[in-house]
Amino acid sequence: MLTVMDKTGRHGLAEVYLASVRGDPNLLVEFVDACDPDLGGRDQKWVVIVSTQLGCPVNCQMCDAGRRFQGNLSDAEILAQVDRVVAANGRDPASSAKFKVQFARMGEPALNSEVLRALWRLKERYPGVIPCVATVGPADRRRWFSTLLGLRDYFRDFQLQFSINSTDPAQRDRLMPYPKMDWRELALIGRSFYRPGLRKPALNFAVCGEWELDAAKLARWFDPRWFAVKLTPLNPTAAASDNGLPDAGCAPAAGILLEAKAGELSRRGFDVIVSVGDPAENEIGSNCGQAVWRHLAGVARQGRGPAQ
Ligand code: SF4
Repeated sequence: MLTVMDKTGRHGLAEVYLASVRGDPNLLVEFVDACDPDLGGRDQKWVVIVSTQLGCPVNCQMCDAGRRFQGNLSDAEILAQVDRVVAANGRDPASSAKFKVQFARMGEPALNSEVLRALWRLKERYPGVIPCVATVGPADRRRWFSTLLGLRDYFRDFQLQFSINSTDPAQRDRLMPYPKMDWRELALIGRSFYRPGLRKPALNFAVCGEWELDAAKLARWFDPRWFAVKLTPLNPTAAASDNGLPDAGCAPAAGILLEAKAGELSRRGFDVIVSVGDPAENEIGSNCGQAVWRHLAGVARQGRGPAQ
């Protein structure tokens, strides 16, 4: 089902797995085992980030996963990634205060109906799990989101994240070139996921000085009572570099820009989460699609030709 081909990174921080599925070395997935040693490690919070598709059809400009797309993963193939990480650690996820599974690695979860089945089975297998679904909000997936909403209440907590990246619609389309819901529909669906006392649906932005993040515009569509905002630096990837995006994550000004944007958003009433990974994570290559892309580049260099 899942054959691990490589594992890189640092145990106790972030380890990225590269694996093939269906016995075919051309069908590659990557998944991540992560925790924060400064915040109590796996005892406090254990995060597994899984792929939901083989590559991704959305082809975001900053993401290596979008460089090729070979279809959906099955529910069993998604769950096998979680099981593999759990087995490698030899411990029961119930021993962690928070065991999170993020559907946020390669692939757009809302384009794969198997994700819904995987969520259901995940709950059966790991009852205390907290899932997090990160999506660009593809168009024409209203039924998928209403089924997801039905599943939400089976979990003690559940996180929905919309990747927005720009408050300018044309720029948003350039950065994430796939048909998507407009602000109104996104806000309606996101609002339905809000539960008092639990984490609000989050609007995700990779912050870069050239991309519009207008707090006033955002607050017009997304009421800060129901939505939080999550800011991350723009991480260095091959796709970002090929598309001429600034290497904001490495720029000394990145932290200042994040703080400035966080301040503007807070003043508009948003809860703001600023998430800056350990710099070692960039060295590990723990950004979306990087493990697969690096493997393919290595294969090409050795003259075996890139797997298609
Ligand atoms: S960021 Fe997500 S949706 Fe965009 S190409 Fe990468 S995996 Fe796909």
